[in-house]
Amino acid sequence: MPFCPNDKSMLYPVDGKPTCKKCGFVLGGPVKSRTLKTSEAADKEMLILDDAAREKLEVMPKINLDCPNCGNNEAWYRTQQTRKSDEPETMFLRCTKCDHRWRKY
Ligand SMILES: [Zn+2]
Ligand SMILES: [Zn+2]
Repeated sequence: MPFCPNDKSMLYPVDGKPTCKKCGFVLGGPVKSRTLKTSEAADKEMLILDDAAREKLEVMPKINLDCPNCGNNEAWYRTQQTRKSDEPETMFLRCTKCDHRWRKY
């Protein structure tokens, strides 16, 4: 039995084609473009800056800082202390114009 290149699980024949039950990969089938959100995992701690939190955004403090993406000079921000308390705060920023997100240490 072949194995899925994505998650290494075993492929089972569906309609005569080896198919991964886990992610839907079909061996020899049309290549599915995986609709993974960009850097989803890496962005977990940025959740509060997600679209779901859009309402909260409106009350978030703004700072005059140049957006590295579009040059806009206004961004929402929040700060978060990293694990150790003796480390400097991390600043999470989100451009008010293009929604670009970045960090500042
Ligand atoms: Zn798979
Ligand atoms: Zn921007």
